[in-house]
Amino acid sequence: MNETTIEIKHLKPPAGPEQFEHRNLKQGEFWRHVPAYKDVDETTFLDHLWQQKHAVKTPDELLDAIKDLCTPEFFADVADGFKRAPMAVRVSPYALSLIDWSDPVNDPIRRQFVPLASTLLPDHPRLTLDSLHEQDDSPVPGLVHRYVDKALFLPLNTCPVYCRFCTRSYAIGPDTENVDKVGLAKTPKQWEQAFQYIAERPEIEDIVISGGDTYQLPAKNLTLIGNALLDIPHVRRMRFATKGPAIMPMKIITDTAWFDALTQVVDRGRSMGKDVVLHTHFNAPEEITWITQKAMNMLFERGIFVRNQSVLIRGVNDTPERMQLLVKRLEYVNVHPYYVYMHDMVKGVEELRTTIQTSIDLEKFVRGSTAGFNTPLFICDAPGGGGKRDIHSFDYYDRENGICVYTAPSVKKGKAFVYFDPVDKLSPEAQARWAVKEIADQMIAEALRKAGDAADELVLA
Ligand code: SF4
Repeated sequence: MNETTIEIKHLKPPAGPEQFEHRNLKQGEFWRHVPAYKDVDETTFLDHLWQQKHAVKTPDELLDAIKDLCTPEFFADVADGFKRAPMAVRVSPYALSLIDWSDPVNDPIRRQFVPLASTLLPDHPRLTLDSLHEQDDSPVPGLVHRYVDKALFLPLNTCPVYCRFCTRSYAIGPDTENVDKVGLAKTPKQWEQAFQYIAERPEIEDIVISGGDTYQLPAKNLTLIGNALLDIPHVRRMRFATKGPAIMPMKIITDTAWFDALTQVVDRGRSMGKDVVLHTHFNAPEEITWITQKAMNMLFERGIFVRNQSVLIRGVNDTPERMQLLVKRLEYVNVHPYYVYMHDMVKGVEELRTTIQTSIDLEKFVRGSTAGFNTPLFICDAPGGGGKRDIHSFDYYDRENGICVYTAPSVKKGKAFVYFDPVDKLSPEAQARWAVKEIADQMIAEALRKAGDAADELVLA
């Protein structure tokens, strides 16, 4: 048979290697470089119970795992960091094995989960513990009703990992030396109040089940919650929120009971014309490995849609190249890059926050590098309870002093909400102004005046 060669005219030059980096997922038994896991085989490492059992919770457990991969100075820094952290620490072996131990101080996984005393910065002077004021919008324990048609259900306060920057550091995880945690409703009996409240509010169509983390719900409780909410006629959409796929993807692969329970709720919802999806929380491209891809394929095969909500974190994903790589890697493993949030104004992690301008610049860079439906929305969850605002929708942004004013007419009409850039990212002159309370008050008042008449009351975090 004669083969005809068709000559195709390429208008674009060949793509460079950087265009393929998102496909370059970590392969093989990458965990064996950590001394404690050097003899751990694949079956054991993929066992979610083994991962939970060996999660690191204290400085000594960390040292036991990594041994001479860290210096005595680093270890002392960690020990001091643990003492000063508002969040308890829990890091899975999976996450620990993704850290580059030749440079742990700057590693994006270490920055998220392992506190160091030496990198701490003073909190912003206007920061409070529950910066989103979730407790003000909580009609019954464990339920937040802020937006008209949506409620946030918090049925537990534990997670498979504790993120240093957690918005709910006021409630999540065990008490620490610095914070006594607020109680959430944690038992099926206590959840009934939340179900009753939702049933009595016909405007609520959308429920986020978070926590804590739905990875930690036993399969039978996941089924109980899923069915109870599906049985409420006006509930149309549900999202199970979990950080799990980012730090322990093997649970999808080996916790068959949990995975089947999720599938059954999703399938039952679909049969009722209701949308049930999984929301997850990847922040660094390194969190996505061959294990993640395998787990995400399993979810995809069962028709379970996964959306991602990242947090914009300094030193983790705050450069155009890293944010673009994260977005492309997410879509490569069939996870929809839905949101990139500004880091909330959370106690004890000021070195992880960055500016509103950074978010605006990242959005500009990422948009156009892939399909629009896979381009995340860059969001500021307005401190004080204003809800999620498009990053560009501020009423006024004083870049010099790092004061950004948002209003939210459909959430809290007539009120203004202010996000503050971290002080250390401002000029020395602006930093000096923030050091004097009266001057800071004047700067905020001036920003509100310039924001115009959109609001008549200021709500600070
Ligand atoms: S997994 Fe979510 S709820 Fe849990 S500590 Fe992290 S951010 Fe907070």
